[in-house]
Amino acid sequence: MRQVRSENTKPELIVRKLAHRLGYRFRLHRRDLPGKPDLVFPGRRKIIFVHGCFWHQHSCKRGARKPSTRTEYWSAKLDKNVARDKAVIRKLRAMGWGVMIIWECQTNPAKINRLAGRITRFLDKT
Ligand SMILES: [Zn+2]
Repeated sequence: MRQVRSENTKPELIVRKLAHRLGYRFRLHRRDLPGKPDLVFPGRRKIIFVHGCFWHQHSCKRGARKPSTRTEYWSAKLDKNVARDKAVIRKLRAMGWGVMIIWECQTNPAKINRLAGRITRFLDKT
């Protein structure tokens, strides 16, 4: 089993490459911030998390999939992830950071232009 907050996952690499290509510069996994955010844009005070649909329970098909064994263990674990995500976002917003979540399913190559638009709107918004 993969780690819950594994770094350098493929969707994350797609988002990094895209943000870079759009001309934005960022820092990675800043440990001094709650949740160790995936991409941090310090000058803009913006943060992007790239979330796996299953691990972070996205409301999509992949997020709705439930393991068929050890169901109690898994639902407790996944509920904990969701609660942690919420707490982290709340903390960061209270510190004045803008937070955007990009889901794994949104990094699909067929949807990359739409994603680029979302990233630009989010990062350019003051
Ligand atoms: Zn999803």
